[in-house]
Amino acid sequence: MRIFDPHIHMTSRTTDDYERMAAAGVRAVVEPAFWLGQPRTNVGSFTDYFDSLVGWEPFRAGQFGIRHHATIALNPKEANDRRCRPVLDELPRYLEKDGVVAVGEIGYDSMTPEEDDAFAAQLALAVAHDLPAMVHTPHRDKARGVERSLAVVAESGIAPERVVLDHLNETTVKLVRDTGCWLGFSIYPDTKMSPPRMVELLKAYGTDRMLVNSAADWGRSDPLLTRATGEAMLRAGFTDDDVDRVLWRNPIEFYGQSGRLDLTDDDFAEPTFAGNSILRGGS
Ligand SMILES: [Zn+2]
Repeated sequence: MRIFDPHIHMTSRTTDDYERMAAAGVRAVVEPAFWLGQPRTNVGSFTDYFDSLVGWEPFRAGQFGIRHHATIALNPKEANDRRCRPVLDELPRYLEKDGVVAVGEIGYDSMTPEEDDAFAAQLALAVAHDLPAMVHTPHRDKARGVERSLAVVAESGIAPERVVLDHLNETTVKLVRDTGCWLGFSIYPDTKMSPPRMVELLKAYGTDRMLVNSAADWGRSDPLLTRATGEAMLRAGFTDDDVDRVLWRNPIEFYGQSGRLDLTDDDFAEPTFAGNSILRGGS
C-alpha cells in the first residue's frame, strides 16, 4: 500500500513516527502551517517556522525515505492576533518556494471579522501565485463554518477544483460534494472521523475528490490512521486500486495542481507518473 498523507504536522512528531510511517507505506506528506498551541508574539516566530517547513523538516523526512511538502499561511486562529497579522506581508516570498504546494491552512476558527479578512486575502494570494488552497473548517458550529467558507471561496474567484475543505464529517460532506471542491477527512483516534466511518462515506459518495489524512499534530492523534483506513476499505470490499486512488493518486492529483510536487526518486517513478510534468515540478 503506498500512502501520501496530505495533512500531517511532522514538526510535532518524533523519528519513531517517521520510522513507523515509512514501514506502513507512507512515502510522501504535505505539512500545512498551523497553530503551534503556544501563541506566537511576533512575525519572526512565523518566518522561522516557515523556514523549517521548507528546509529542515523535508531534510528530516528524507532520512526515512519520505517526501515532504508544505502549505504556508497565517492560520485562522492567529489571524485574530494583531501581533501576527503582519505575517500576511511575508507570505508572497514563501509562496514562490519549490516545496510549497498550496496556501493553507486558511479558513475559520471562530468566524470573526478578522478571520474573514485573512481568509479572503489569502485566497487572493492563492490565485495570484497560481496555487491550490487548503481550507481548515472549524470544529465548533461546523455546518455554518463550511457554508460560510464555501461562500468566501466562491466569491474569491479561485477554481473550486483547486480548493480542499478539510476536517469534514457526515454532516458537512453533503454541503461540499456538489461544489466541485475537494473533500478532506481527518481520521482521529477519538474524535472527528474513524476508519469505519470513513469507509461508510466512501461507499456513499465514491472515491472521486476524496482526501484522507491523519492530521497528526501535538494533540492525541495517530499518523498510521491513513493505513488503518486503507485496510478498513479492503475489508469492506474496496479494491487495491480504490485504496491506491484515495491514499496515493488523489493527493497527487490535488497537490500536483501546484506544479511543484517532487516525487522523482527511482522509488517514486511509478509508470503512471513517469514522464509526467508533475514529477519535474513544472507544467
Ligand atoms: Zn492541521
